[in-house]
Amino acid sequence: MEHVLRQILDDLQNDKLSHAVLIEGGTAAEREETARQTAQAILCGGQTKPCGVCASCVKAAANSHPDILVFSGGTTPGSFKVDTVREIRAQASILPNESEYKVFLLLACETMLPAAQNALLKIIEEPPYFVRFVLCCSTQRAMLDTILSRVTVYSGPSASSADADDEKAAQANALARTILRTIASQDEARLLRETAILEKDKDLFRLTCTALASLTADVLVSSVRPELSDAFKEEIVSRVSAKHLLYYLDIANKTVQSMQWNCNANLLLNIFCAQLCTDPNERI
Ligand SMILES: [Zn+2]
Repeated sequence: MEHVLRQILDDLQNDKLSHAVLIEGGTAAEREETARQTAQAILCGGQTKPCGVCASCVKAAANSHPDILVFSGGTTPGSFKVDTVREIRAQASILPNESEYKVFLLLACETMLPAAQNALLKIIEEPPYFVRFVLCCSTQRAMLDTILSRVTVYSGPSASSADADDEKAAQANALARTILRTIASQDEARLLRETAILEKDKDLFRLTCTALASLTADVLVSSVRPELSDAFKEEIVSRVSAKHLLYYLDIANKTVQSMQWNCNANLLLNIFCAQLCTDPNERI
C-alpha cells in the first residue's frame, strides 16, 4: 500500500487531489492506515505534508484531531447503515473546528448496500467547500458506478487471492465474448489486438479458451432453443453458421489441451488466432 500513499501525497502536493478519494486493495488495516495518513496530510500546516510535527499532525497521529471524523461499517453486508450516512451528511454541513478542512474517513465501504451508497451520493457530488472524503473499500467493485464516477480511485494490491481469481475469471469471460464477436465479424486485426494481453498471461489464456468453449457451446444450443437466447447470442447466430461455431468450439478445446503440454504460449496464441480467422469452409 506504500505506493498508494505515495501517489496520494504526490497528488496533494501538486494540488491535484480530488475532494473525494477511494482506497481499495490491501488489508483493512492497511487501508485505514493509508486513509489516516491521507487525512493528516490534508490538514497538515507544514511544507512537506504530512510534516509530522505541526500541531495538526500531532493531533492526527494521536487520533484526536477534531476535524478528522471516522465512520465505519462492520464486517457484514449492510452494516454501514443509511442512518450513519445521514449522520455524515449532518456533520458535513457544520464548519471545521480549527482547520481549513473537515476530513471524513469512511471505512469498510464494501458493507454499504446500494441504499446507503445512494444516500451518500449527493454529499459526495456537491460537498461544502471545506469537506474532504476518504473512502476505504476492499474492492471498488462493491461500489455503485455513480459513486465511482465521483471519486478518484487509488488501488493497492488485490485484497485476497480469491478476489484476484474472481477478477481473472470475469476478465476471461469478457474476453471470450469479445473474441467471439470479433471472429463473427471477421475482424482479424482487432482479434490480434484484443488477444495481445494473453501473450504474457498463460493463466488468463487458458481461462479465456475455456470460457470461449463454453460460450460457443451456449450459443450453439441457443440456435436450436431460442428461449435460451439473448441479444448477444442472437447477434452471433445471425452472423455465423453452426458449422463455424463447432469449428470455434473445437479450436478452443484443442488449445486448452495443448496448453497442458507446456508448449510456447506465444506460438500457441498465434496458431489460435490464425485458426480462428480461417473460414472452416475454405479449410483444406
Ligand atoms: Zn503537519
